[in-house]
Amino acid sequence: MSTDIFDLVIIGGGPAGMTAAIYAGRAQLRTLMLEGMSTGGQMFNTATIENYPGFGRIDGPGLSQKMESQVNEWGVEIQYGQVIEIKQQPALFELVTLDKQTLNARAVIIAAGSTPKKLKVPGEAEFAGRGVSYCATCDGAFFREQDVAVVGGGDSAIEESLYLTRFVNRVTIIHRRDELRATKHLQERAFADPRIEFLWDSEVEAIEGEQTVKQLQVKNKKTGIVTPLPAAGVFIYVGMQPNTEFLQGLVKLDAWGYIEAGEDTLTSIPGIFAAGDIRTKGLRQIVTAVADGAVAAMAAERYLGERGF
Ligand code: NAP
Repeated sequence: MSTDIFDLVIIGGGPAGMTAAIYAGRAQLRTLMLEGMSTGGQMFNTATIENYPGFGRIDGPGLSQKMESQVNEWGVEIQYGQVIEIKQQPALFELVTLDKQTLNARAVIIAAGSTPKKLKVPGEAEFAGRGVSYCATCDGAFFREQDVAVVGGGDSAIEESLYLTRFVNRVTIIHRRDELRATKHLQERAFADPRIEFLWDSEVEAIEGEQTVKQLQVKNKKTGIVTPLPAAGVFIYVGMQPNTEFLQGLVKLDAWGYIEAGEDTLTSIPGIFAAGDIRTKGLRQIVTAVADGAVAAMAAERYLGERGF
């Protein structure tokens, strides 16, 4: 167990966590940012970002790298690790990681984001990484000149379908309704793209193949008819699940598992703040995550100041 005490530990290195780190660094708090995989979070897995002001169009890994460089300028320590438990002690939080480290923090910002939801159909787990993907940016180029399917009708499904048309022969978007949820501008681009087709009112019943994915069984919800759809890959974009399992019984969560916290990022526990996609909010975007990061860091600074740190 480490006896070091950080003023602030930030859990998560996406746009919310990295912004909190920049602000905490500038406020000269002794700060550690813990990241699970690579900095950037969901932003890292995004092909093209065209609504983050100041950059026109930028790729997700590129913007992630720029933010990380800025974190490094402010002397914030970055470690890789996954927190599995937070224990509340008098005036201190003990964070236990998967590799059995214990970290001590006077304040904590939770910016652990969310993970893609699973479809939960036969074949999904079996073919993960062998045709089933949740990241077009990571895997799209493996499907050059082939036919692929995308499941979902939100911004992610449509945006990533547009990205996939750079490589693939055809994208079939399978959506459970006859109307998309995605923003109008993305819809118009997808409808105008000759490489994109739609299967409306449809649900994937199974993903099949041998070594890799070969076809999907798709059911039309109106007729009940199940038809095979040949596809070398399937990209699943059916929404996100907040990464709050490790917080059960600690901070208050809403019915969907998001941390109950307002624009002030305050949670049900003083000293723990929630920033970005992980908290209850109306709009989950990089700009709103970044805003949360700044608010949370300033709130943490105030919390520490009031306690004489
Ligand atoms: P989302 O907006 O929650 O959309 C999920 C889509 O998947 C919906 O169309 C939903 O259908 C469908 N779906 C959900 N469960 C399903 C199931 N079990 N089987 C089949 N289909 C299912 O998720 P998202 O697209 O990942 O976006 C998440 C958040 O990030 C949103 O707030 C979004 O605006 C934001 N985002 C923004 C941008 C951007 O601004 N450029 C890009 C990406 C994401 P229904 O429509 O029928 O519910």
